[in-house]
Amino acid sequence: QFNNVNLAPPDPILKMNAIYKADPDPVKISVGVGAYRTEEGKPYILNCVKKAERMMLDDPNNDHEYLPMAGLQSFTDAAVKLILGADSHIIKENRAIGFQAISGTGALRVGAELLNRFRKSIAYVSKPTWGNHLAIFGDCGFEVREYQYWDPATRGLNESFFDTLRSAPNGSIFVLHGCAHNPTGVDPTEEQWKLVAKIMKEKNHFPFFDCAYQGFASGDLDKDAWSVRYFVDQGFEMFIAQSFAKNLGLYGERVGNLTLVVHNPDVLPKMHSNLCKIVRAMYSCPPAHGAKIASLVLNTPELYKEWTVELKAMADRIKEMRVMLFDLLTEMKTPGTWNHITDQIGMFTFTGLTQNQCKTLVGEHHIYLIDNGRISIAGLNTKNIRRFAEKIDWVVRN
Ligand code: PMP
Repeated sequence: QFNNVNLAPPDPILKMNAIYKADPDPVKISVGVGAYRTEEGKPYILNCVKKAERMMLDDPNNDHEYLPMAGLQSFTDAAVKLILGADSHIIKENRAIGFQAISGTGALRVGAELLNRFRKSIAYVSKPTWGNHLAIFGDCGFEVREYQYWDPATRGLNESFFDTLRSAPNGSIFVLHGCAHNPTGVDPTEEQWKLVAKIMKEKNHFPFFDCAYQGFASGDLDKDAWSVRYFVDQGFEMFIAQSFAKNLGLYGERVGNLTLVVHNPDVLPKMHSNLCKIVRAMYSCPPAHGAKIASLVLNTPELYKEWTVELKAMADRIKEMRVMLFDLLTEMKTPGTWNHITDQIGMFTFTGLTQNQCKTLVGEHHIYLIDNGRISIAGLNTKNIRRFAEKIDWVVRN
């Protein structure tokens, strides 16, 4: 049996991370996986998270019972408020609900499963995008098409995105990165978002926002929700996948939420019941520990306040590293233009390095990045950035 099974291709990012971990050289640098690192190059547990965990330990009513299929309601309600805005009229009109999911990936997956059952159409994802978008929608049975997003000439947004929005069949699903586009670090300007919304409205397209970096891009939770809230104000029905992996540093705890925004509140209990049916057969109910942490942070004013400060500190450190990298390359007169490093936002920069240059960095210099040239700025710190810049300079010149 199973002789017909061929080896599945490894995920490039996870594969790179495994090679990095196995490398014994102390000068190694990882800018592959998108996880925040401190100035010491270590994973960061937020103080607000530690405090929430202590509160849980001390709480005699805390236990390890199952959550309901839809998850912890104090968490999902707070997550909906976080993305739509606490005083959103949509919430007051009972036109939005949250559904806990296994981090951002799970939110995308259960949302796509629901769409597949009740609103199937073609799913469009950006080119390039986070690779899992193609896999998630593809595995759900969608025809997945790509819209050009990156313009290598300007290292910015490709104007043909608007043409694809216009030429796509009416009623298509468009997966949009709410902020801090992965992998390019290029977000539409507010004017460009307005145009996207205008065309999508005319074409009756369905927005499926992926918000994996709220608060992480600018350091401001509301600012990073601008695009989603603009679409809500324009009267769209939509799904929003939220991840608390990056902004709360809860990567492995798998804390996520799917927010559904609709016109008619009466459809929500029906959609909710179908999401329950979907997850019951997939994993029964979501994990509790991380959702309880997130709920405490989101619903306890002191912890929330502390979170916003820590979030801003993470975003600011990333911005500082962008400036430092740009300054080093400028100082070394590295051929090419590098202002995109400081123009792009969020965790990643699309450096423009070629596949061969990336392979040389990995193979000869112990610098681990995926070969599309995307780097996670969070992997840089004041101790390793000079060596990193020198190696970039070297591969560009050779
Ligand atoms: N969407 C995008 C664009 C991402 O970059 C990520 C994280 N790499 C996710 C979704 C989901 O991540 P997670 O499942 O860990 O929340």
